[in-house]
Amino acid sequence: MKKLEQLYEGKAKKVFATEDPNVVIVDYKDDATAFNGLKKGTIAGKGVINNKMSNFMMRRLEEAGVPTHYIEQLSDRETAVKKVTILPLEVIVRNISAGSFAKHYGVKEGIVFDEPTIEFSYKNDDLGDPLLNAYHAVALKLATWEEIELVKKYTFMVNDFLKSYLKGIGIDLVDFKIEFGKTADGQIVLADEISPDTCRLWDEKTHEKLDKDRFRRDMGQVEDAYQEVMRRLMGE
Ligand code: UDP
Repeated sequence: MKKLEQLYEGKAKKVFATEDPNVVIVDYKDDATAFNGLKKGTIAGKGVINNKMSNFMMRRLEEAGVPTHYIEQLSDRETAVKKVTILPLEVIVRNISAGSFAKHYGVKEGIVFDEPTIEFSYKNDDLGDPLLNAYHAVALKLATWEEIELVKKYTFMVNDFLKSYLKGIGIDLVDFKIEFGKTADGQIVLADEISPDTCRLWDEKTHEKLDKDRFRRDMGQVEDAYQEVMRRLMGE
């Protein structure tokens, strides 16, 4: 598959056109940002790990019945995916309190919930990705009710799968953010990525953080944490 012109450059990925108008190539970078781009840095090898982990999970999610944008991994950092229009919604699931949840509601991190929570934020950097509910999303025409229902259904399927898969390799899935897109023929598919950039992953025994919080909070051993997830996942 040939890489044509660059269509877009985001914080962690570049997107290129291909000869097929329905297919684009995603190229994962080592650049890391946090706090809406205020904190910038590099995590050596992150692009390779995020590309491989995301593809690994997307392949299995497809098998589990969640449609995804994934087509084919092309190299360590590059993957062919279906071209989609991203729904401007960040969908966040939480199994354990952490991050903005702990801050907003004044609770400690690490409270295990009886059931997962779901929330949406409006994907808009200028506004700082504000929280919104489904009514707001429909009012703003970010999605239809049908799309929201499908997004919720797929999101809980993703949580069920990821949570139990990660538990099998000694990792607690604390929370994560996913995004969905719409293909040219109107299908809603899981898009973007599933990686230590977008999930909070804690070692089930030591509760050591194996995710981007190490970068956000200047905890050190950031590369080691990403590598550890990769090693447990794929033996690499
Ligand atoms: N998250 C993300 N991108 C964002 C915001 C959040 O991938 O722009 C992920 C984050 O890594 C965590 C989950 O979503 O796994 C919940 O994040 P939270 O709302 O607690 O926000 P944070 O504390 O990261 O600002």
